[in-house]
Amino acid sequence: AAPLVISVSTALSAKHGLLIRNRPQFEQARNINAVIFDKTGTLTEGAFGVTDMETFSSMDEDAVLSYAATVENDSEHPIATGIVDEASARNLELHEMSDFNSITGVGIEGKIEGRNVKVVSPGYVAEHDINFDDARFNEWSRQGKTVVFLVVDEELSGAIALADKIKESAKETVAELHKRNIKAIMLTGDNRKVADHVAEQIGIDEVYAEVLPDQKADKVAEIQERGLVVAMTGDGINDAPALTRADVGIAVGAGTDIAMDSADIVLVDSNPKDILAIFSLSKKTYNKLV
Ligand code: ADP
Ligand code: MG
Repeated sequence: AAPLVISVSTALSAKHGLLIRNRPQFEQARNINAVIFDKTGTLTEGAFGVTDMETFSSMDEDAVLSYAATVENDSEHPIATGIVDEASARNLELHEMSDFNSITGVGIEGKIEGRNVKVVSPGYVAEHDINFDDARFNEWSRQGKTVVFLVVDEELSGAIALADKIKESAKETVAELHKRNIKAIMLTGDNRKVADHVAEQIGIDEVYAEVLPDQKADKVAEIQERGLVVAMTGDGINDAPALTRADVGIAVGAGTDIAMDSADIVLVDSNPKDILAIFSLSKKTYNKLV
């Protein structure tokens, strides 16, 4: 009877927006007691808009944006899209750029007119002893805004705050996970204050912030060592090792191909709520087999 049950469950899964890539992990899904979520693009829409700016040195807002957008134009990160869209809404011209380099989980850099131009995370700026106005930064972060900095020849030139939208479906998913006694954990490369702000609105139980891409898989392992059976949900290149490491790796369909290739299950409609169907269908399918 097993093959029949499985083919029925494949059809049911598809109806619930799920693509099952690995059967043994799908079977394991009925034992999950913690779900780890990447923030950007998974719990949030991953569509950033520029909300606030501050400029330093001699650059004005447009100069900061055109420099930042020039280097971000070669990046696929949602932050990059937000900055490039703002520059194009202001009809700004981009510069010539060379030596583009992406530093995963930190930012990007390139050369414009012989100057070294970076758009980087607050963590990078703090580590390199570049001073900025903590009050403004803290206020933006508390509002849940992601802040990146334009650094030209090691000098701070601008701060750009961007806001993303929380998925309503993320809140509903977490509430339902709690009803089923499943823990909801956030794992993000973004700043701690932003992460806490988003987590609080969604009802997340635990937050790991400012986690570099190569540390995400280790964090998953740490959580497993507590005796939890863990599903990891993510969309980015930086989530791929963590998806592989988790007992069940779940990729968001709208995310990168690398994330999908590393996942056991794909959320075809990019709706976090479909995670709930994974648990129920796994139970229904495999409890029938034993
Ligand atoms: P997440 O876990 O939320 O998907 P990432 O690991 O992709 O986050 O990025 C972590 C942080 O690194 C971002 O919040 C940002 O500060 C910085 N960053 C990453 N990519 C870029 C980029 N293209 N431009 C500017 N900053 C970036
Ligand atoms: Mg992400």
